[in-house]
Amino acid sequence: APDVVTFGEIMAMFVATDHRPLSEVDHFEQRLAGAEMNVAVGLARLGHRVGYLGQVGPDPFGTRARETLAGEGVDVSALRTEPSAPTGFQLKNRVHSGDPTVVYFRRGSAASSLGWSPSAHEVIGAARHLHVTGIFPALSAETRDFTFRAIATARAAGATVSFDPNLRPSLWRDSSEMTTVVNDLAARADWVLPGLAEGRTLTGATSAERIADFYLDRGVSQVVVKLGTDGALLRSRDGTLRAPAFPVRAVDTVGAGDGFAAGWISARLEGVEQQRALRRACAVGAITTTSEGDMDGLPSRVHLDTVLAEGETARQ
Ligand code: ATP
Repeated sequence: APDVVTFGEIMAMFVATDHRPLSEVDHFEQRLAGAEMNVAVGLARLGHRVGYLGQVGPDPFGTRARETLAGEGVDVSALRTEPSAPTGFQLKNRVHSGDPTVVYFRRGSAASSLGWSPSAHEVIGAARHLHVTGIFPALSAETRDFTFRAIATARAAGATVSFDPNLRPSLWRDSSEMTTVVNDLAARADWVLPGLAEGRTLTGATSAERIADFYLDRGVSQVVVKLGTDGALLRSRDGTLRAPAFPVRAVDTVGAGDGFAAGWISARLEGVEQQRALRRACAVGAITTTSEGDMDGLPSRVHLDTVLAEGETARQ
């Protein structure tokens, strides 16, 4: 059985190969997108036994998702195919600077109708750790219910739970619903991993310390605030630790947060102490930014160890 389990929506992603408005683009590259999938692949590459729960459609995107995860060694026995709904997809343009335009075709997707089931209970109840994001609960009443039950099941089984808010305002009815639900979920986790900007949105606090305090006051044991090129801050009742960013030449920062989560979770599951776990998380986040695509840059264990060792040498 997998040690770590996560769940979410996997979408096909079509990235333009030229710099034009989406309506004028002739060629797209096919990829896959999904924050939880990225974390699952990141953990598998670091040698962990990972299971992915979700639902895809009976179409080539669903097949690609299943084969890609399986090819990375992720357990997909709990990834369902829903015969009557499609896998969602998105179109993304290519820009010289700033953020690309992304157009989603995900309403009514197979993933958005994933309801709680005895098999979900069994898989999650058997794991040591559950990773959750704030994306999946935004999709539908079913996925929101699934998310709350998944956390309750993991906790009842004595597993740890990590939560990355991954705010997607466009998926929520309004910002007050988003803030209420996401903070409610976060408060049920052991480790909460917000980015600075989303932490500000969710808590109203400005500094990383006060953002962390907001969740510590609600019973979370460790809050890790991601600070982009400023690295990250870890705060718990025992105090505050910081780690600088790894100096890299970033080419695509999308997915850095997912790599960071994979690094943090892997270290904590291996019993690595907090300062080194934070450093590992920053290293995986940084390495992830050095290639295009959310998943391509996720390092293997050997790659990660090399970067960490080079970092040690540079500091001496
Ligand atoms: P995402 O865009 O994936 O949602 P995020 O907002 O969750 O990201 P970031 O703070 O952007 O999180 O990145 C996560 C971590 O990755 C940072 O804490 C940092 O350690 C590392 N990182 C991100 N960007 C860079 C960079 N340009 N150089 C080095 N490290 C980086």
